[in-house]
Amino acid sequence: MIARVTLEIALRKEFDYAIPPELADRLEIGSRVKVPFGPRQVLGVVTALVQESTHTNLRPILKLIGQQSLVTPQVLQLARWIGTYYCCPVELALKSVLPEAVRREEAGWRERLYVRVAVTVTPDRPLPELTKRQLDVWSVIEEWRELPLQELLRLTSTTADTVRRLEDKGLISISPQISERDPYAREAILPTQPLALNPEQLRVMETVLHALQPPVATAPATSSASPTPPAGPAPPGAAERTFLLHGVTGSGKTEIYLQAIAHALDQGKGAIVLVPEISLTPQTVERFKARFGSGRQQTLVAVLHSHLSGGERHDEWHKIRQGRARIVIGARSAIFAPVHPLGLVIVDEEHEHSYKQEETPRYHARDVAVVRGQMEGAVVILGSATPSMESFHNAQRGKYRLLELRNRVDDQRMPIVRVVDMRKENRKQKGVQIFSQELKEAITQRLERREQVILFLNRRGYSTSLQCTVCGYTAECPNCSVSLTYHRAAARLLCHICSHETRVPKQCPDPKCGNPAIRFSGLGTERVEDTLTRLFPHARIKRMDSDTLKRKEDYRQILGDFRAGKIDILVGTQMIAKGLHFPNVTLVGIIHADLSLHIPDFRAGERTFQLLTQVAGRAGRGDVEGEVFVQSFTPFHPAIQFARRHDYAGFYDQELEFRQQLKYPPLSRIALLILRGRNEDKVRLSADHLRKELEQELAGLKDLVIAGPAPAPLARAEAHYRYQIMLRTRQMTLLGHHLSRLSARLQLADEVSLTIDVDPTNLA
Ligand code: ADP
Ligand code: ZN
Repeated sequence: MIARVTLEIALRKEFDYAIPPELADRLEIGSRVKVPFGPRQVLGVVTALVQESTHTNLRPILKLIGQQSLVTPQVLQLARWIGTYYCCPVELALKSVLPEAVRREEAGWRERLYVRVAVTVTPDRPLPELTKRQLDVWSVIEEWRELPLQELLRLTSTTADTVRRLEDKGLISISPQISERDPYAREAILPTQPLALNPEQLRVMETVLHALQPPVATAPATSSASPTPPAGPAPPGAAERTFLLHGVTGSGKTEIYLQAIAHALDQGKGAIVLVPEISLTPQTVERFKARFGSGRQQTLVAVLHSHLSGGERHDEWHKIRQGRARIVIGARSAIFAPVHPLGLVIVDEEHEHSYKQEETPRYHARDVAVVRGQMEGAVVILGSATPSMESFHNAQRGKYRLLELRNRVDDQRMPIVRVVDMRKENRKQKGVQIFSQELKEAITQRLERREQVILFLNRRGYSTSLQCTVCGYTAECPNCSVSLTYHRAAARLLCHICSHETRVPKQCPDPKCGNPAIRFSGLGTERVEDTLTRLFPHARIKRMDSDTLKRKEDYRQILGDFRAGKIDILVGTQMIAKGLHFPNVTLVGIIHADLSLHIPDFRAGERTFQLLTQVAGRAGRGDVEGEVFVQSFTPFHPAIQFARRHDYAGFYDQELEFRQQLKYPPLSRIALLILRGRNEDKVRLSADHLRKELEQELAGLKDLVIAGPAPAPLARAEAHYRYQIMLRTRQMTLLGHHLSRLSARLQLADEVSLTIDVDPTNLA
């Protein structure tokens, strides 16, 4: 037998190797192997086992890595699809389906010392004489029966010596054992029971449960009897099994997910739950662990996200691969988790842009989820309070089935949203204001009533630009076409694209000017916090953005304090916009709602509508009705007005019309081609050349629209010039096919690179 292997060094090709006899019965499709390649040794994945090769003198595989094949045939198939659809080499797709910590050759388990009870204490065999200290330690061990030595030392605040004394007396044994690194081991999670669903939830649940039924098996053909048609409704097909769950914030979507998962487990199948990285709060994870992974079932739920250490990720992943964990909850890449058999995939907040990977392979985890569901016959639920235009459109045309939850549970009302016209406010208060009079009063009132407040501004730092009022100089990044942000606590100017840092000038740096009165303008969370502290000196205020969260525990800490009522006002960026559920929050303020409206992207309106709706949804999740203030300079913009009225359908209809006129998604698909290089002339010439090649290659695509080349909105980043060409068509599969072919033969100037982004979410 011969193994066909894709190598980790991307060569867009597979290579054949001989299988040495000692590996013959251990090697399978999906095995990770080490093979010779020229003078080197490289890692790869077996993608096929074949009888013959067109090559002779095949070199043998050197080594099999790991006991079990790492890539299941299902995931391998998925990686192939990604390679084709997103126009990237399958090696790169394969690389991203395995976490780095699992791929490494030396990746392994960790051994730790464990303490175990070695005797049974009975009246006939009483305990030997122990000191008080030893007795304390013994009683803890006796209760646990078995625990890591380190954990014991922590629990009893004792030294290893004391424990060794107990070993000397024959009471316990201490020996090394493989120990799983469990990132949630220290959490005490109380189990929860399924809630009785309300009528709206029940209706949704019934539909989902029906789709989860295994396809009715056709009766085995007995000798003469003609096969009888299966009884009951026909087994659901692929389109029947993909759902869009549109439910307002607080409508109880998560409870639906939980009960659907329980059902999949009952059928012996596993589930994958995707949540956006920022929603992977302890709060979210806890809800799943509390239902399925507490007590004796501790390993049932595995968690995969970027805050885990490499070792933790390794262990979580293998728990899944070995079938001990049946439920996976994680960010984007958890869609590749080796759950088998797979019964259910849930994509929560399916409209979130963080599902799109911004490096090759540029896959969208929501779309990969739908494809994986179809390949493996699993039910897929995409959930959101503000579905993406793409998904809602798919539901409208019958590609997905639409499920709706129109009301909050327990008849909680949607919060009242007040839009504040900041143009009037600035006239009234004679100067540029951060807070309107109304918002200030509302905050005061909440502080008096001991209720909590969330203030949202999607921009960190103190102020967004530094400008000289005399000569017009602005502090810009030397590497990128953006201005530098002033961070006051750090006393630095910072580039948010490339992290370039510089000190803050005391006067205008232009030697001809030297004006001492340079001005900061624009607004960030740091300044909001600062102003708040002056306005409300007695309030307990905390800021949450990537500047204040330096360690991975910080996030938990702040949210924990907020929940415990130790913080009155939480100020933050989009980190606080999603998924948080705090019943005592009765006021939400959106400081500058227009920020996301003025980005050069056809999705600016959609993004603003989603953000406002999501942030507003944090208010009024307890007994007191919530109130939301939206401060804006364009208060009559449709995105703001529809969000104010909680009118998703209204927003969708008018937005679709706009997309229709301009042939934008969801009425077409986009491929964005980005050329980058240090030399602008070379980049521009390459872009012109590419345009000509495209016209030739794509002449057959009738509905194709080619726009550009033009400098990208972010014209320069990290010292590289960027040019774009945008392609729009309804026939993406066909376009992708042509693009792969073209990029394989394309000759670009040296130092100019081309990126193909299929279904881009970021147009900058
Ligand atoms: P969503 O995910 O739609 O924002 P959640 O699932 O977080 O909503 O539900 C909001 C709150 O309502 C949660 O505290 C949840 O426990 C509770 N809840 C959900 N369904 C029910 C139900 N049927 N009965 C009582 N409480 C419920
Ligand atoms: Zn920069």
